[in-house]
Amino acid sequence: MKTTHSLISPSSFERRKLCPGSLNAEKDLPNVTSKYSEIGTMLHDRTNRYITKGDSDNWKEGLTTAQIEAVEKSGNYFFKLLQSIKGEYKVFHEQSFDLSFIHPEMKKGTVDSLILNDKEVHVIDYKFGHRFRVYAQDNYQLLLYYLGAIYNKENIAFLQNKDYVIYLHIVAPFMNNSVWCLTESEKEFYSDISIYREIAEKCYIENAPRIASKKGCQFCKAKATCPALANTVPEIRKPVDFLFDSDIAKIYENKELISLYLKSVEEYIKNRLESGSFLDYRLQPKLGNRKWADDAESYLSDSLGNDAFEVTKKLIGITKA
Ligand code: SF4
Repeated sequence: MKTTHSLISPSSFERRKLCPGSLNAEKDLPNVTSKYSEIGTMLHDRTNRYITKGDSDNWKEGLTTAQIEAVEKSGNYFFKLLQSIKGEYKVFHEQSFDLSFIHPEMKKGTVDSLILNDKEVHVIDYKFGHRFRVYAQDNYQLLLYYLGAIYNKENIAFLQNKDYVIYLHIVAPFMNNSVWCLTESEKEFYSDISIYREIAEKCYIENAPRIASKKGCQFCKAKATCPALANTVPEIRKPVDFLFDSDIAKIYENKELISLYLKSVEEYIKNRLESGSFLDYRLQPKLGNRKWADDAESYLSDSLGNDAFEVTKKLIGITKA
């Protein structure tokens, strides 16, 4: 499914910071959602319903046992946190806050859950991925949700003259949770709007540089068309023992970027197959010696989306799942 998104948003901000040229690189490329990301969106919705709709069990409809447990874990994390709050508080779920004060192109950020209190501010983001660990420390997505919340007119009045501590939470029921409690100096540094403005403005400079990095390129849509990422793949036609040590080290140190380039090759072939053909390749599960159960394809496809298939026509192996 193709969707449209703001070119600069809390979820893409880290990439824009690491690679200012990524905004221009991605601007004309469609957002293609996978089945996997659609499941993540659905679990966000179910978590919101679990937290906000009282005793009703409707939110469980159609979910697997693992998904029900994940939603309960996420919601219960929020409830436990809320129980620990003393005194007056404000709570928000799936709440959008204006962020255009940072850059006119950055319209808003929608926080999953937020608790404001005179002593504590908690920003919570639920993540339902199975593969990539996300950390709360230095997480610009959470920091922008925090800024959106504290610069909201009503919240400014609520938090006025309050010396609160900021807690940023990643709640990841299929992985590990992560919490960052900002120190006084971190709070001062990260509450300064000018650092975010500077990052955003750099992305709109003509010919903003493209800088390849594992974190920046990981979810960039421009991987397959990006010369900066392609440049990380060395042009070598020699066996390793014919290379200088410095060349071997350069390849080794770039191995994660080279893997991302290879991933972009795989995605490119998949896209070609989905929209027509690519040589004689086919996207088709193929069982190996250790056989998957008959329903493995649909289970893995539900859990991993496109990652459940390799472009060499087979379902991923048992050890890789
Ligand atoms: S693939 Fe990497 S280097 Fe290229 S635009 Fe995207 S983030 Fe930047």
